[in-house]
Amino acid sequence: MNDKTFVIVGASLAGAKAAAELRERGFDGGVVLIGTETELPYERPPLSKDYLRGESEAEGTRVHEERFYRDQEIELRLGTTATAIDTARGGLQLDGGEQLRFDALLLTSGSSPRRLQLPGAELDGIHYLRTIADSDAIRARFERGGHLVVIGGGWIGSEVAASARQRGVEVTMVSDEILPNARVFGQEVGEFYRDLHAGHGVELVLGDGAAAFEGEGSVAGVRTASGRVVECDFVVVGAGATPNVELGQRAGLDTDNGILVDQRLQSSAPNVFAAGDVANHWHPFYEQRVRVEHWANALNQGPAAARSMLGDRAAYEELPYFFSDQYDAGMEYSGLHSPSDEVVFRGDRAGGEFMAFWLRDGVVTAGMNVNVWDVNEHVQTLIRSRKQVDGAALTDPGTALESLV
Ligand SMILES: Cc1cc2nc3c(=O)[nH]c(=O)nc-3n(C[C@H](O)[C@H](O)[C@H](O)COP(=O)(O)OP(=O)(O)OC[C@H]3O[C@@H](n4cnc5c(N)ncnc54)[C@H](O)[C@@H]3O)c2cc1C
Repeated sequence: MNDKTFVIVGASLAGAKAAAELRERGFDGGVVLIGTETELPYERPPLSKDYLRGESEAEGTRVHEERFYRDQEIELRLGTTATAIDTARGGLQLDGGEQLRFDALLLTSGSSPRRLQLPGAELDGIHYLRTIADSDAIRARFERGGHLVVIGGGWIGSEVAASARQRGVEVTMVSDEILPNARVFGQEVGEFYRDLHAGHGVELVLGDGAAAFEGEGSVAGVRTASGRVVECDFVVVGAGATPNVELGQRAGLDTDNGILVDQRLQSSAPNVFAAGDVANHWHPFYEQRVRVEHWANALNQGPAAARSMLGDRAAYEELPYFFSDQYDAGMEYSGLHSPSDEVVFRGDRAGGEFMAFWLRDGVVTAGMNVNVWDVNEHVQTLIRSRKQVDGAALTDPGTALESLV
């Protein structure tokens, strides 16, 4: 039996998958998984989709059932927050004062919603969405009906708006962007999502960000930068997220938009690793740092970090990938583009079945597929090939993607 102890801080997707991987690889020392939340580790994507709409229950979001942790002898410490790390001695302090010893530590502390510091921010009825409790509170508001203002036209704001409409709630989306997601994904993709929401009855107030919340005790309206007041019964803010770096930062780890980790997910302290939303990773394919706040990254990076803790030298090289579901539009995106890349389309944008490709010097940097399936692998192969592709063939739905590599 191994006398080593590996400790993981952050009992969510990346952390739970890392713990499972340690056992899968035959590590039979101590594995401790520590999490502030009191629920068993769960996945967050349903919280803005089926779970929020009341179409599924909490059990369906769990990464593993309780029995799994017991059977695998993974010590789950829920409702427990790690407060300090001593990297030199391999010590971790927990709230309540307990000290744990570790041989290697993995930080999967995730990210937190960016809070709007606007006048009226303290009013009741202003929601953020990160945890199952947040989703429960919004779900309960949906049941009471009324008028929701969603602030932000990013993925979370858009999915909440879609779920609210599906539950019959009146929705106004307020965003400082001129189109949903346009800053990163460009005008055409933004127009598609604008029309999708408008077609489902969302009122869109775009290019005019929230400047203040109005109301007495509870929020009753959102005042925009131009002075317009949108009356409402409740608000959901989707203004992005920030990585939970404080614990690592206090321990002296190098941080910059996340905990800086090398290609093996090792931090500036050799016995500390990081994965998931909190990790700003040196990506060997891009030869630059990449921090990805998406499900697949937590799913894959957690286990990769566990393998590195066990001494594996392999680099983490998965390409960024994410998905979003809004109404009947399912979307996947792979790669990493820059807003200055050229964007071209294949398929029927007006009919909502299309692909978008971003190109730099004729090389595909990213691809998005909307209601087109089983193409993601080909998109990733195209990106990895770094080959110039024929634009006409790329945009022709009659040309098989795999023939372009
Ligand atoms: C509503 C919602 C919908 C989403 N939908 C999609 C989607 O459709 N597609 C997609 O690709 N991605 C989606 N995502 C993103 C995806 O869920 C995240 O990328 C993923 O949850 C990141 O997992 P993680 O394990 O890195 O961190 P997190 O899930 O953020 O978990 C980190 C955990 O660490 C705990 N923690 C932090 N500090 C400490 C400490 N000091 N001590 C103990 N515990 C600590 C936190 O309480 C938290 O439980 C969505 C996210 C949200 C919130």
